[in-house]
Amino acid sequence: MDLKFIGTGGAFDYEYGNSSAWITLNGLHILLDCGNSVYARLRRLELADQIDYILITHMHDDHVGSLSTTILHHKHKRSPSQKARILYPDTINGRSLRDRIRAYLSFSLPRPDEFVEFVPLSEVAGVSAIDTKDQHVKGMVSFGYSFEDETDVKVYSGDLGNKDTMFEYVKSLETEKKVQIFHEMTFHADASVHVYYKDLMDHLSSFEVYGYHIDPRKSPADNTVPMVVEQKEFLVEG
Ligand SMILES: [Zn+2]
Ligand SMILES: [Zn+2]
Repeated sequence: MDLKFIGTGGAFDYEYGNSSAWITLNGLHILLDCGNSVYARLRRLELADQIDYILITHMHDDHVGSLSTTILHHKHKRSPSQKARILYPDTINGRSLRDRIRAYLSFSLPRPDEFVEFVPLSEVAGVSAIDTKDQHVKGMVSFGYSFEDETDVKVYSGDLGNKDTMFEYVKSLETEKKVQIFHEMTFHADASVHVYYKDLMDHLSSFEVYGYHIDPRKSPADNTVPMVVEQKEFLVEG
């Protein structure tokens, strides 16, 4: 399994690209989030024609802003006869994420089901959803995701204001496998919609954690959370 980042920035950190990941699991390629800057990077990296599934954490623009274009690319540049496939967690909140994606796409693609096949997440082995509804923005459906093979578990938080959710999830796995947690974070103490870096630092002695969704140039001198952008092994453009 491989999890590499296409972009590591937050909504306004255009130099680093909107946070998005490229997962290779059991020979399948999963694009995780498709924000404003992602389609351009997919083209530059020559990945746009290799997507097997698209997975979305939540409906903010920095996570879905170029989703319509990526789907249109699939139809017009890659395979007119085969629909793009979007995974959704097959739970109540997962189905409402699916319905939100469909509604969002319908502004650009009036009959989204002609372009997209929505596939329940349970059909893809090794991928699990972590329901974080209300934990990023109150009233918003959101998910983190976990990817697992025979030896490794990689957890991707998505945007998340609750500092405990991902760590409690990993503890609940009671696994002997190697676990890496890719966690969004903020350097602003007063931002309730993201997790403050000092709260992540509390977990560094027990977990392998890497921070993303930030501008690394704003990192305070006392930040010890390793940032994804500084780990070449986790970047598609290493
Ligand atoms: Zn968000
Ligand atoms: Zn975001």
